[in-house]
Amino acid sequence: MFFLKENFPDSQAIYNAVLEKDSKYVMQTYGRQPLVLSEGRGALVRDIFGKEYIDCVAGIAVNNVGHCHPKVTAALQAQAEKMIHVSNLYYTEVQAKLAEALVSITGLKRVFFCNSGAEAMEAAMKLARARTGKSGFIAAEQSFHGRTIGALSVTYKGIYRSPFEPPVSSDTSFVPYSDAEAIREKINENTAAVILEPIQGEGGVNVPAPDYLKEVREICDETDTLLIFDEVQTGFGRTGKWFCKEHFGVEPDIMSMAKAIGGGVPMGAIAAREGLTFKKSEHASTFGGGPLASAASLASIKAIKEENLLEKATENGAYFMKKLRNMQREDILEVRGKGLMLGVEMTYPCGKFVDFAREKGVLINCTSESVLRLVPPLVITKDQIDSVVEVLEQA
Ligand SMILES: *Cc1c(COP(=O)(O)O)cnc(C)c1O
Repeated sequence: MFFLKENFPDSQAIYNAVLEKDSKYVMQTYGRQPLVLSEGRGALVRDIFGKEYIDCVAGIAVNNVGHCHPKVTAALQAQAEKMIHVSNLYYTEVQAKLAEALVSITGLKRVFFCNSGAEAMEAAMKLARARTGKSGFIAAEQSFHGRTIGALSVTYKGIYRSPFEPPVSSDTSFVPYSDAEAIREKINENTAAVILEPIQGEGGVNVPAPDYLKEVREICDETDTLLIFDEVQTGFGRTGKWFCKEHFGVEPDIMSMAKAIGGGVPMGAIAAREGLTFKKSEHASTFGGGPLASAASLASIKAIKEENLLEKATENGAYFMKKLRNMQREDILEVRGKGLMLGVEMTYPCGKFVDFAREKGVLINCTSESVLRLVPPLVITKDQIDSVVEVLEQA
């Protein structure tokens, strides 16, 4: 692995200063790990002391092509010398090329660009309301769709929502995940859309029953309700396909994307089927689809194609899953997921594992209290997976 920095003088002083400044000047919203990271390559990151970690968090399913992928870095450098930002009042070649690429890999017809997952959900919800003339949404228990006030109103967890009541969409119904009949019961003449993650991420890497999404699609068709898939976390090869919907053979009306879309650079987008589109002036974003993010996204899509990362995610995901399942410990309730989106549900809160693994040079994340979420870069090697499993075994 190639890192830039060779020696690490004053690391302790820098570490202390960073933590002190953060505690003084940054709103303390994050439960942060005691790490100051400075470099990343592939599936590895390094802290300011020079210690390396295998990164099974990957910026929370963002760095799918790995940290500082050479194609992404080169595209960013080249674009930064030409033009960093220009308004959507004008066209750029790079945005047009990206739109074409996204339409091709999503199988949908048109895209709208924004800057994050929550913003993509806002766009999806606005589009659903504008085109149906209805206002209600049905979302799943344990769902996560983002922290802006609209996306929050279809996000399940009470602690995310309660300080900000009332929700913008007061007519959201939450139904149990992977239960199509519950959706049939809740749909009414004011339901604009059903909003689902094809695999729930934040909610604990929950994989639905094989026919669930197909049944929901049928219910939506019968009742003239739109179906929105939130593929913010599951997209861009994470589950071994471009998008998780392909595993289930179901097409949404609107799909949201973000996280890995920009190869690490902030970006979001929605794609929608034929005939479903915003009209002039209905929606806009200053930065959406800007040249820098678009260049990074195009390079990242190219890397996924040229380096067969979908196949790699499938193969290494199956390898990882098998090794995790072979651990056969009594405190593991279930190992689940698809591709390189894996969850290990423990019988107790998994925070301690995160600390132990970090000490041993592995970054992992614990979600929904007791689920270890493993979402490494798709370029992770089998050797690196072996090391991760070894550390988890020790833990
Ligand atoms: C992360 C995430 C979001 C929110 O994305 P942000 O970029 O943090 O706003 C929305 N939906 C899903 C499924 C996510 O995983």
